[in-house]
Amino acid sequence: MTIRLLGTGAADGIPAFYSETAVSRYAREHGGKDVRTRSAALIDGHLKIDLPPDTHGQMIRDRLDARDWSAIFFTHSHADHFAVEELQYALFPFNPYEYADFVIYGNAEICGRIRCHYPDWPFEVVETRSFVPVQHGEYTVTPIHAYHKLDEDAHNFIIQDGQKTFLYGTDTGIWEEEVFSFLEGYRLDGLVIECTDGLNNSSYDGHLDVVECIAVVERLRRQGTVAQDTVIYTTHHGHNGEAIHAQLEAALNPAGIQVGYDGLEFTI
Ligand SMILES: [Zn+2]
Ligand SMILES: [Zn+2]
Repeated sequence: MTIRLLGTGAADGIPAFYSETAVSRYAREHGGKDVRTRSAALIDGHLKIDLPPDTHGQMIRDRLDARDWSAIFFTHSHADHFAVEELQYALFPFNPYEYADFVIYGNAEICGRIRCHYPDWPFEVVETRSFVPVQHGEYTVTPIHAYHKLDEDAHNFIIQDGQKTFLYGTDTGIWEEEVFSFLEGYRLDGLVIECTDGLNNSSYDGHLDVVECIAVVERLRRQGTVAQDTVIYTTHHGHNGEAIHAQLEAALNPAGIQVGYDGLEFTI
């Protein structure tokens, strides 16, 4: 299974709009891995996770074609993950296609907003619920419940292709006990996990900082969900995390966690 991180930034990206934080300034001056567009991923070239407002630029940057997508899996309805207006370009009159080739998977909030936005459009929309697996071709995708945006069933996704098991955890917060228990039944080959708050020990519970990210990974190690050879990368870094890429590496690499960046592709 091949995982491409199209974007690894939090809600306002890095450098962020109207931002004079040190991290934004550094990214403007140095570019490279410190520039982070809004979080999204692509699995095996065709399973798309989330549709941030940066999708168009990400696809151009990595020379990808949206017509290759077989599905879009939405994690939750925050604007950095669910740019609903971008869906319109998949169909007539923007092109000759009367049907989109991809299936849209999302929670009740996502499905409701798509139906509301496109009442007469023939999108294939499948409602997802945490802990209930859906089958998409050869893939079993199991949403788990994120401790994030608590007015809806925000998801992280376990994706299995019959050989490998991968967990995509953007916007996780610190999972509730039932999630850790549920994950005891899995042994991951790959894990992408958020580290939004970086070195900033914020009081907000809906995201992880470096200390919390390491604690979550260590707990997954203790319960056997994460093993010695599990490939681990971070995503969803915020400029208010007060850490540039190199500082995140210094904090996370000793714990066996690698720092993700835009355009990274790895295979498990
Ligand atoms: Zn987000
Ligand atoms: Zn969010």
